Amino acid sequence: MSRRSTKYLKAALTALHYSGASELLSPMTGGLGAILMLHRVVPGKFEGFSPNRILTITPEFLDQTIRQLIEAGFDILSLDEVAARLKEPAKISRPFVAFTLDDAYRDNLEYAAPVFRRYGVPYAVYAPTDYIDGHGDLWWLSLEQAIAKLGHVDCVIDARALSLPSATVAEKDATYHSIYWRLRKTDETVARTITAELCRKAGVDTRHLCRDLVLDWDGLRQLAADPLVTIGAHTQRHYALSKLGAGAARHEMTASIARLEAELRRAVKHFSYPFGDVCSAGQREFDMASELGLTTAVTTRKGVIGARHAASPTALPRVSLNGDYQLLHYTKTLLSGAPFALYDLAKSILPRAIAA
Ligand SMILES: [Zn+2]
Repeated sequence: MSRRSTKYLKAALTALHYSGASELLSPMTGGLGAILMLHRVVPGKFEGFSPNRILTITPEFLDQTIRQLIEAGFDILSLDEVAARLKEPAKISRPFVAFTLDDAYRDNLEYAAPVFRRYGVPYAVYAPTDYIDGHGDLWWLSLEQAIAKLGHVDCVIDARALSLPSATVAEKDATYHSIYWRLRKTDETVARTITAELCRKAGVDTRHLCRDLVLDWDGLRQLAADPLVTIGAHTQRHYALSKLGAGAARHEMTASIARLEAELRRAVKHFSYPFGDVCSAGQREFDMASELGLTTAVTTRKGVIGARHAASPTALPRVSLNGDYQLLHYTKTLLSGAPFALYDLAKSILPRAIAA
């Protein structure tokens, strides 16, 4: 998301909150509950060029969010409990929330686990197995490191030569987002090759990144030993499944599930689609997840969980706890579902305005 759209969304969330509109809309839009999406939980503030800060919240914000949810009367459920509730929506009297963390970053064990334990709150961690092995490619973070070093960025993506300024923080932000979104649309192997080439030009060695930032098998086993934790699969290589042939996509799912089950000696019944947006996971992948017998599978499509999702437990939307929105009133407004309902409404009325 660009800085400008982030600014507009923050303004809209604040307006919804202070106008009381989100609470008025809540009975219509709030649904049964929400699955929250997190990535990293790390103390401190980011300064300057740090486009991936959106993936990080602080332990303090996580603590405040959990406390706020408990005080507001939400049930905080494991994914198995979410699936059970979806089967009997009529029995639901209180809204629910489930916490999920993607990519199995080391900080989940160090900083997030103690907060969840403090409140006895269940959560799920989705682990991409190549990354746990230490050889996954965190290309979105490598790209950030390369652009941080480069004063100008030249590369070719999909036969288009790009020459972008990268001297100031604003230029680096614009260049990062321009390249990142182009790479998100291109072939996964090509995206990683282009990022590796930019790192080479910048003199940045990111081979250690995965080992430094993502849990190894011992760490994952330590996390999994906590009865509050559900470990879910997140493929092997963290490729957008829609970009792969059906056989390769299915293999990414089955091989990662089998590996986690062998390493952790437990059934793995939950899954998160890498990147998870409409371009990265669609009906083909949702069907595959059902055929594999998964209990739930989550996307990064934005939305709260309603009764209709009982029919599609392998295509569940989530609400992002995003590093750019670390204020409790944003979370409360997002959980009301109002922003998503308004977005859907605006999209149906103004398709061209939204697409622009
Ligand atoms: Zn991921």
